[in-house]
Amino acid sequence: MSTSCREKVILFPFMAQGHLIPYLALALKIQSKFGYSVTILSTPLNIQKLQRSLPPSTSNINLVSLPYSSSDHNLPPNSENTDVLPYPLVINLLDSLHSLRPHLHKFISDLVTQNTPPLCIISDVFLGWTVEIAKEFEIFHSVFVTGGAYGTGIYYSIWLNQPQLQNESEEEFILPDFPQDLRIHRSQLANNVLQATGTDSWSMFYKRELSQTLTSDGFLFNTVEAFDQVGLTYFRSKLGHDSVWAVGPVSDYSLSLKSRASSGTSSDLCTQWLDNQQEKSVLYISFGSMNTISSTQMMELAIGLEKSGRNFIWVVRPPLGYEMNEEVRSEWLPDGFEERMKAKNRGLLVRKWATQLEILSHKATSVFLSHCGWNSILESLSFGVPIIGWPISADQYNNSKLLEEEIGVCVELARGNRNEIRREDVVRVIDLVMSNESKKGDEMRNKACEVKEMIENAIREEQGCKGSSVNGLEEFFAMALARKKRKMD
Ligand code: UDP
Repeated sequence: MSTSCREKVILFPFMAQGHLIPYLALALKIQSKFGYSVTILSTPLNIQKLQRSLPPSTSNINLVSLPYSSSDHNLPPNSENTDVLPYPLVINLLDSLHSLRPHLHKFISDLVTQNTPPLCIISDVFLGWTVEIAKEFEIFHSVFVTGGAYGTGIYYSIWLNQPQLQNESEEEFILPDFPQDLRIHRSQLANNVLQATGTDSWSMFYKRELSQTLTSDGFLFNTVEAFDQVGLTYFRSKLGHDSVWAVGPVSDYSLSLKSRASSGTSSDLCTQWLDNQQEKSVLYISFGSMNTISSTQMMELAIGLEKSGRNFIWVVRPPLGYEMNEEVRSEWLPDGFEERMKAKNRGLLVRKWATQLEILSHKATSVFLSHCGWNSILESLSFGVPIIGWPISADQYNNSKLLEEEIGVCVELARGNRNEIRREDVVRVIDLVMSNESKKGDEMRNKACEVKEMIENAIREEQGCKGSSVNGLEEFFAMALARKKRKMD
């Protein structure tokens, strides 16, 4: 066994699907590429969840539960993950994670006492307090950000400086530590930013945790150097060093598609429906795993879609104020909408969840109307599919800004789930992006193909030719190993 086989890497993700999945993907990558033993730490219910997602043949990935009970923290029983929490309670979950501190301390302390200290601790951006524990035991620490650098950088700039409070009379303002011409408009701010006072729970949480992460030894991002330069530069200059690596996308989408195809799950309804559509003719609509729009917005979207004459797959989730398990109701969609769309073979309404990777990789899919969650963006761009943006919360606003203003693969249709949207705008934007006669649409499609190539290049790993994301992860571990060696010398 080589020395590297004995190295241990500790991963500590935040408890949301959009974080757990990329952390698991990173774990699999570290294990298969470097042969290290990887331990993922989390709370008991999240560990059970991860256990179910672990590919059967995986070895050398240990899932370890740290003691935690949500009812000890003013949270409903068994709610250890954002999937099951209403948004206003997410801050309670975030705050409660400090209770894991003594358990992480003991876990690391035991490893050190047994003379098997980990090579590094890689933890989530919301767990800034882990840096202090790593420093105490002189272990290399890095943050792994599951989002993009641009969106996360804007988040840092806003929460650490709160420029929206200092420029109260201004609609648009400059973001500290970003280039002067990068301005943000109030309408591009998420609700918790707009409602922040500087001493509210979100402000207190972010100021404390984000400042602590800035003392980490490095930052890994689930992004690609070639299209996320502005954000990566923000972090490099903020940290005052270059230990900032773009290593994404960490998920291997083609492998996931292959393994799902071999298990038969890819021949689902959506794929069958898409098989009967013309090439590049279908609009795919989804707002991710947590977000939803209002019933009025849903109605306008449906009317606009029908008027646009374009074919579509729409993942329908109950609108704001309705329970997740409710059946489609007459207040949500126009009379007979679903039946008409079905009869004309115009549109497919899928309930709550669709096989997104299969849809985005299908040759019939042309454009994605998305809430701009970072995973959805990486998936869409990996298949060269341009985006119509409708950000709803958190970093989605900044992601949509990156895609539209910096990269040019997106047009924003709407923002938030409380604003008015108009059917005419739905028709106009769909036409702008999907019509073969549209210059803008053409530009976006071409740009999306360029970005697809950037992603392919970043993850390329052939003899003598390694992409930036491959090099990024190798450099990261070289630095961690060098640090460990210096400590032992
Ligand atoms: N997803 C899916 N089917 C759906 C909705 C979402 O497979 O109907 C997957 C999607 O492929 C992505 C993840 O769920 O990997 C959503 O992550 P993202 O960061 O885009 O948004 P979030 O759900 O975290 O807001």
